[in-house]
Amino acid sequence: AKIVPDSSVCFYEKEMDEAARERKSLRADLLRAIELGEFHLHYQVQTLVTTGEVSGYEALLRWNHRERGAISPEEFIPIAEESGSIVEIGEWVLRTACSNAASWSGGKIAVNVSGVQLARADFAEKVHAILVETGLSPSRLELEITETALIADKVRALHTLRRIRNLGVAIAIDDFGAGYSSLETLRAFPFSKIKLDRSFTRGLERDAQAKAIVRAVLALGKSLDIPVLAEGVETVSQLEILRDESCDEAQGYLIGRPGPSGGAANLNVALEPA
Ligand code: C2E
Ligand code: CA
Ligand code: CA
Ligand code: CA
Repeated sequence: AKIVPDSSVCFYEKEMDEAARERKSLRADLLRAIELGEFHLHYQVQTLVTTGEVSGYEALLRWNHRERGAISPEEFIPIAEESGSIVEIGEWVLRTACSNAASWSGGKIAVNVSGVQLARADFAEKVHAILVETGLSPSRLELEITETALIADKVRALHTLRRIRNLGVAIAIDDFGAGYSSLETLRAFPFSKIKLDRSFTRGLERDAQAKAIVRAVLALGKSLDIPVLAEGVETVSQLEILRDESCDEAQGYLIGRPGPSGGAANLNVALEPA
């Protein structure tokens, strides 16, 4: 007797086919999205926990597909990485973010960088060229890099990150704690900020273990002299706990949702101290 009926196998294969076709069509569309003007950036505010003062903005890529409408970066970034188009797209993001930020009165602009971009031998020069072209001061730029982005070629990544730091650009380790070798990564690479993954922020109110980990990361940041930003702050009580624990910076829907303008916009003004 058959364990799996034929019809369900067929159905499964058809679904796989469809998923593969969909990826293929998105891959092709991604190549043309820049020239079609389908990309734009949203900005999400980052603040100092003690004063509520704005410290910077994170640029988040948005894709408005001409037929399908908005597609999440969680969906299209992996496809762009796989096909290599993330190199060109990432360059567009960096240039657009730097050029916009140059027109603001101040504050940092944080830009996400894929491991595929980082692996390119000319990445540090690209960053330098874009700073010159847009006139943005290097001290206002921060690149956000996840641990997984560093795995492929650690020697080259280290070399590139050192060159970028030498330009005066800051480097944040993104989604910290979500990986598995964070401590070694922290020791080996020249980070200027730790962005604590939002899964820990989420657990702050109810999960004693999550809170213990946040405390440990904050202590680590203190002893290494690297400021810590908590991602995904959604409630007042999370922000209060972070204040009690002396977390440096915060970002999340409570403080401000990502929106089309940076500078002084998108801040949830109700949170500003009187
Ligand atoms: P990420 O770098 O960890 O960015 C933070 C994500 O969390 C964003 O999702 C943001 O909208 C969301 N977020 C912010 N505050 C909150 C909150 O309080 N609660 C919850 N639940 N979520 C919050 P988004 O914009 O959909 O981006 C998803 C991911 O896509 C990013 O995660 C990043 O890994 C990637 N991504 C976005 N833009 C770029 C880009 O320009 N280049 C690259 N390489 N990756 C990007
Ligand atoms: Ca990020
Ligand atoms: Ca993150
Ligand atoms: Ca993430």
